[in-house]
Amino acid sequence: MKKGAARSEASVTPRVNGIRLWQSLMDLAAIGATPKGGVCRLALTDLDRQARDCVIGWLRDAGCKVEIDGVGNIFAVRASRNSDAPVVLTGSHIDTQPSGGKFDGNYGVLAGLEVLRTLNDNAIATDKPVGVAIWTNEEGSRFVPVMGGSGAFAGVFTVDEILAQRDIDGIAFGEALERIGYKGALPVGRRAVDAYFEAHIEQGPILEREGNTIGLVTGTLGLRWYDCAWTGQDAHAGPTPMEARFDALRGASRMVEAVNDLALRFAPDGRGTVGFMQVKPNSRNVIPGRVNMSVDLRHPDDATLASMDAQLGAAARAIASELRLACELRQVAQFAACRFDRGCVQQVRDAAHEFGYAHQEIVSGAGHDAIHIAGVAPTAMIFIPCKDGISHNEIEDARADHVEAGANVLLHAVLARAGVASS
Ligand SMILES: [Zn+2]
Repeated sequence: MKKGAARSEASVTPRVNGIRLWQSLMDLAAIGATPKGGVCRLALTDLDRQARDCVIGWLRDAGCKVEIDGVGNIFAVRASRNSDAPVVLTGSHIDTQPSGGKFDGNYGVLAGLEVLRTLNDNAIATDKPVGVAIWTNEEGSRFVPVMGGSGAFAGVFTVDEILAQRDIDGIAFGEALERIGYKGALPVGRRAVDAYFEAHIEQGPILEREGNTIGLVTGTLGLRWYDCAWTGQDAHAGPTPMEARFDALRGASRMVEAVNDLALRFAPDGRGTVGFMQVKPNSRNVIPGRVNMSVDLRHPDDATLASMDAQLGAAARAIASELRLACELRQVAQFAACRFDRGCVQQVRDAAHEFGYAHQEIVSGAGHDAIHIAGVAPTAMIFIPCKDGISHNEIEDARADHVEAGANVLLHAVLARAGVASS
């Protein structure tokens, strides 16, 4: 075989059963199904319990030992030659947004299940154990913080912090967890993980636009959030000549442009968004004296994000001085960019190449459990396209051949890491 040339896809073995995987996705989507074809299955509700019971049943049928930790994270592990070795873990989440889809999270868990079923079908013994994790409350829709279960596992949040969170009805996470019977005995975060691979729909338009089947996720965007306030002076829209105005909304408008220009200067990975604005007094015939707005900046490289931060500050000062306004720009949140493990990303790349799937490197714009797990174990993610890039929506959709391809890549990345035991 010529170097660089992929074998024909059909010759690569083992391969997952795409029809079985699709059927599992549809069966799980029936729990909490919405009339528009989506899923509403909020964390720690009765529907979440039903889904957990269902998937655990499938994982036990696949021969796994299932354990639950103190925040409800589920670990299903398949026996291996060296059972003391740290587990090669895959998985994701099965809670959804109130108007969520069939694939977000569920795909990563069921692709993991399909990997285990395929290993069984082919009687493959691995050196290291292979397991599937179902992380509690990834979506953060009913309880904050998002990605709470994986964050507790990785030590980002304490168990007490997680258990004390309350939903909008005042029900504590800990109460809800006990009520559905999923407060487990396993200490949170104690399991040694050799590596973590998470398959997920992209939730964005890039793979579809580029015509690629597999995204090799190299990391996630770092993020900075700001509150920005512009102060001028309220005045009558009629008698006040243009040159005598202190129009806060003019400053805010220039700032919107500045934020977008700034992100475009750092294309393709820079992001800049103003998504919130309050104009005061918000009256037709009053020059606005005050505007409060948000700014959201993102980039996968922390040093670049720091320079975006500096340029944002400079832009705010320049606009304020030109328009004779006061501008207060305050950073209110910051998350560092996450870089996934080079070795794990390479194993994903090798697997995609082996099957001849069109692939590209990609940065995740969304948060995932893998971001927390990357802090405690070598981690990578596998993206597949979703229709029109739409997610967190009942119409979220993915193609069966892409669903199968992502699971094949997951299978081979996991096998490369876990090792096939020679008999
Ligand atoms: Zn997700």
